[in-house]
Amino acid sequence: MSHLVRLSPSDFVGFLRQEKIRRFYFVYDMMNKHVQSSHPQLQPLAEFIHGDRRDFAEHEGLFFQVTEKYDTLQGAFVHRTCRGQAAGGVRFWTYEAVEDYLRDGLRLSRGMTHKNALAGLWWGGGKGVMARRPDVDSENPEVRRYLYSEYGRFISSLRGCYVTAEDVGTTVADIAAVFSRTRFTTCIPEDWGGSGNPSVPTARGVVCAMEAALEFLKMGGLRGKTIAIQGMGNVGGPLIRFLFEKGIRKIIACDINARLSDSLRQTSIGLDLEIRTVSCGDDSIFGEECDIFSPNATGAILNPRTIPLLKAKIVCGAANNQLEDPNRDDSALLDRGVAYVPDFLANRMGIVNAADEQYGYVSNDLLFERHLSRDWEHSVFQTTLRVLRESKETGDPTGRIAVRQAEKLSLESHPIFGHRGRLIIDSLVADRWPELT
Ligand code: NAD
Repeated sequence: MSHLVRLSPSDFVGFLRQEKIRRFYFVYDMMNKHVQSSHPQLQPLAEFIHGDRRDFAEHEGLFFQVTEKYDTLQGAFVHRTCRGQAAGGVRFWTYEAVEDYLRDGLRLSRGMTHKNALAGLWWGGGKGVMARRPDVDSENPEVRRYLYSEYGRFISSLRGCYVTAEDVGTTVADIAAVFSRTRFTTCIPEDWGGSGNPSVPTARGVVCAMEAALEFLKMGGLRGKTIAIQGMGNVGGPLIRFLFEKGIRKIIACDINARLSDSLRQTSIGLDLEIRTVSCGDDSIFGEECDIFSPNATGAILNPRTIPLLKAKIVCGAANNQLEDPNRDDSALLDRGVAYVPDFLANRMGIVNAADEQYGYVSNDLLFERHLSRDWEHSVFQTTLRVLRESKETGDPTGRIAVRQAEKLSLESHPIFGHRGRLIIDSLVADRWPELT
């Protein structure tokens, strides 16, 4: 394995500076079936990516730059563009090693391919990842404005093969900075004509997926049910509100952020809402007596340690990549008799909300609302039911079924532009993108 993957992102940036590399890429050569690096010094990393059986899935192109100021590693992971430009948010997160950084981008971008395809959107799958540096004050508004406007410049240089959006660690204000340097972004602030924060629509979609899972198990509707929620942030907060509107009996919710817990406590007087502030490794929420467990915090939370604790019949939430190991943990949930709604199915409404923002707005937009309806065949509700039924019929776990359906859809070509994303990537390679300013 290349020693480069074991470096911290900051040390890796040091290496790149030494080699005088500011921009670089890894592109999948479909003909010869290998990953080509822009620089010979980085070919060992290309070999690592190509040899990886877990997260590399013939991603079309991975593009990176180091910012001039603050030495921050920024990336755009383009998984597949048959259905259209690779779309997915940009994450701003801390990574211990280059390997973690790369794996996150590879996994998340593939997840976006599946999410977008299963939602019937004419988008491919991609993801942005920026690595936080411990020595840079990334909460400082000026630093953020610089980093995100540089990210916008980087996205422009990619000629539209990747369209970015908001994700964990990124706010709508950050997207405004991105938008100052590129047209290839969604989640632009609402008063600039964009669709703004996607979290409330995401929460609405999760509610639909919960209703479908309850219907599948013949457990009736949400009224009178008890739900345990991990994470009360941008999605978890509105989710709690929507669930009470549906006549939920009780919610047990936890977060590691004490300030958030206190403010929710004050606004929920009179409701049966039990709020807990927990520490990061606290797994008590998994063992709550409840009908549905809803993960809305971080990924990899369903694993051999937590799955045996579950008392819920249903797992359904917005958190991305909930299964620590998709093959192992998907089956473990099935064996335990838990109806698991794959995350990329339950949390699609954020990207659906942003997907059409350049086409203008109408009230009660049918193109949006049909995803939340009960009858449209590709709605969250119907797709969830279909996946759960197929799982029952075939004995295959739900994640595997949803991926199978999404893979097939993701290979369909955009009806007007065909596989244009790939052509863009080829043109970037031909024009020696790293050397362009
Ligand atoms: P957020 O950062 O606003 O909220 C996450 C919350 O989880 C935070 O309040 C955080 O303190 C809490 N948390 C972190 N670790 C925890 C732990 N171990 N136990 C309890 N709480 C913990 O993020 P968000 O926008 O609400 O997104 C939540 C999840 O949903 C993420 O995984 C995100 O990728 C996914 N998602 C979000 C959207 C969206 O529209 N925001 C769309 C699709 C998927």
